[in-house]
Amino acid sequence: MQYRAWFSCVAGCPGQHPLNEVLYRCPICGALLEVTHDEEGLRSRSAAAWMRLFDERYLRTRWPYGSGVWGKKEWVQPHIADENVVSLFEGGTNLFWAERYGKQLGVEDLWVKQCGTSHTGSFKDLGMTVLVSTVRQMRAEGKPIRAVACASTGDTSAALAAYGAAAGIPVVVLLPANKITAAQLIQPVANGAMVCSLDTDFDGCMKVVQRLTDTSKGDTGIYLANSMNSLRVEGQKTIAFEIVQQFDWEVPDWVLVPGGNLGNVSAIAKGFLEMQRMGLIAAPPRLVCCQAAQANPLFLAYERARAAGRDMSLDDFEAVQAQPTLASAIQIGNPVSLSKAVKAIVETRGMVLQATEEQLAHAVARADRTGLFSCPHTGVALACLEQLIESNTIQKQDRVVVISTAHGLKFTEFKAGYHRETLGFESRLANHPVSMTGDPEQAVGELHRLLDDYEQAN
Ligand SMILES: *Cc1c(COP(=O)(O)O)cnc(C)c1O
Ligand SMILES: [Zn+2]
Repeated sequence: MQYRAWFSCVAGCPGQHPLNEVLYRCPICGALLEVTHDEEGLRSRSAAAWMRLFDERYLRTRWPYGSGVWGKKEWVQPHIADENVVSLFEGGTNLFWAERYGKQLGVEDLWVKQCGTSHTGSFKDLGMTVLVSTVRQMRAEGKPIRAVACASTGDTSAALAAYGAAAGIPVVVLLPANKITAAQLIQPVANGAMVCSLDTDFDGCMKVVQRLTDTSKGDTGIYLANSMNSLRVEGQKTIAFEIVQQFDWEVPDWVLVPGGNLGNVSAIAKGFLEMQRMGLIAAPPRLVCCQAAQANPLFLAYERARAAGRDMSLDDFEAVQAQPTLASAIQIGNPVSLSKAVKAIVETRGMVLQATEEQLAHAVARADRTGLFSCPHTGVALACLEQLIESNTIQKQDRVVVISTAHGLKFTEFKAGYHRETLGFESRLANHPVSMTGDPEQAVGELHRLLDDYEQAN
């Protein structure tokens, strides 16, 4: 095989572990693992040749390369045989030019990467295709894996259940009871997963799944699908590739992404930094991790470091008890990918910001009025964008990309609450449906009155 990749320790311990080994942490020090690629092998093609190849494959039909993830297969998981790839044509998502919203905020070059416009409605599909394909190959090799399991704030379990069902691999999902939306709950139910609703929060579910998949307690045969499993990061890093590809290989100035467990911000940084090392781009954009003020441990660490006038480090971090937030998928107080995220922010000259419930809801309402249909997590990033424009950190001519992490249709309770004005703060852009009798004359009269009001207000 010309291209090779392996697990290595993020803390720098020696050792290359095969990607088909059941291993989630460094066997020497217990730190997270990451997938390292043989960059000498990748250099057998020039940067220009890689970009040409990626463009030739992009959204075409030749299996499995039309997938946004598998079109970069050599950089993602080169050891998977094509027949073991479990792909639902993930990636290739719209880069929405937010022209009207940008104009209202005072930036001219604003884009929203619609990662939620995908098979299960969130960016989690990008990582799950890599993980489930690897599991399918391990099972084909005779490894005794009975099931794949995850703890989830809703979207990970939806993605795992769909990819598992497509491959015929049993799936176990552990969900915090009453903390996910109806749409998110019905997804793994419909896909036939074993759905467990636990009387705890996400951090509590994470403890259970770690015990369930703990290889030191004897080989349990249940494979862990949380983002601590660095195979998922490899799929998610293709967000970075796609963004520059969609800009004809130009790099934006800023990328804003909501962060909870911090796998995605780490993945996006890894994508940009690998492209930089391999000569596809000159430098990464500045990455901004956007947290809900209700669940903001990375923000607090960043502020501690900033107050002391130095770069953030792991010593600045303290876990918090995450409080309920409308951005339920990022209600996480002790993020698993912390060490990778700290590195991601420092190496991209990035920042960490936070948004309150009212700020995120208002940002969503404002963006939706210009044709978007954002989820509350994307709202956190939009609210942070508004802050950075206000403080003149992001300037009028800067090219900005906001990562939209899920489809708004998964979060209709949140939107309904906003427009019914039941969220507990002022819904400045509430839009109330108007009841009518069905009598045409009455309807016409009423509508013209509504249009008069609209024209006066705008
Ligand atoms: C998982 C998720 C996030 C958070 O991503 P992390 O990698 O955990 O930081 C944000 N938004 C949505 C909609 C998600 O599903
Ligand atoms: Zn180690």
